[in-house]
Amino acid sequence: MRIKVLGCSGGVGPGLRTTSLLVGEHLLVDAGSGVCDLGLDAMVRLTDVLVTHSHLDHVLGLAFIADNRFRSAARPLRVHAGTATRGALCRHLFNWSLWPDFSELCCGAGPVIEFCDVEPGRALVIDGVTVTPFAVPHTVPALGFALADADGCFAFSGDTNGDDAMWTALDALPGLDALMIEIAFPDEARELGDASRHFTPARLGAELTKLHHRPQLLLSHHKPGLEAAIQAQCHAALAGWRYRHLKRGDVIFSERAGCSKI
Ligand SMILES: [Zn+2]
Ligand SMILES: [Zn+2]
Repeated sequence: MRIKVLGCSGGVGPGLRTTSLLVGEHLLVDAGSGVCDLGLDAMVRLTDVLVTHSHLDHVLGLAFIADNRFRSAARPLRVHAGTATRGALCRHLFNWSLWPDFSELCCGAGPVIEFCDVEPGRALVIDGVTVTPFAVPHTVPALGFALADADGCFAFSGDTNGDDAMWTALDALPGLDALMIEIAFPDEARELGDASRHFTPARLGAELTKLHHRPQLLLSHHKPGLEAAIQAQCHAALAGWRYRHLKRGDVIFSERAGCSKI
């Protein structure tokens, strides 16, 4: 499995893009501002998007992908999301007020986008990858996704600060080679992290004691300007774990022997 990080920041700025992962050529996980760097052909090649939750930094690119595909002969883009996320996208984004409803507008072979409901624990197969959604706590209903193929298993937490059920769901996976997980704030912003349901380094370190798998950790969603403080605190908070701080443009290969990254 080849995963390209199109964006993994908790905000925008020079060189910073918000969350979006390209898996192979056809599957996208979240559609933050990172997708805006994709070429038109790459956008048209997409067949499926997994959406963790409705927050703007994870969905804004959907609007522009849909707009670009409208002028192509592409098949409908399947947008896989929980029912609450789908409802928010329909009510607040694709509502003819903020943006056209591209689930009504047609391109080559049907509507530009087609919503597909997903549920925690109900796996689906997309382009040879088995996708298992799992529930994560956040300020809105949210999911993480485990992606598995013959090479290994990679899981992405989306936005969360963790709870017992999330770790139980991850431990139920037969294996876990890499876990991409967020840390939005440094420890001194613990109250803000708790209120907005984002991790701090100390909180993640404490929560990880509940996980029995020992994946490599791929850390993301650091808020702009707070990266150095978060990285410094991870040395102690994540001692004993293999971890990396992701950046835009990284390519991740999930492998049974452990996750490698170039
Ligand atoms: Zn969020
Ligand atoms: Zn976010």
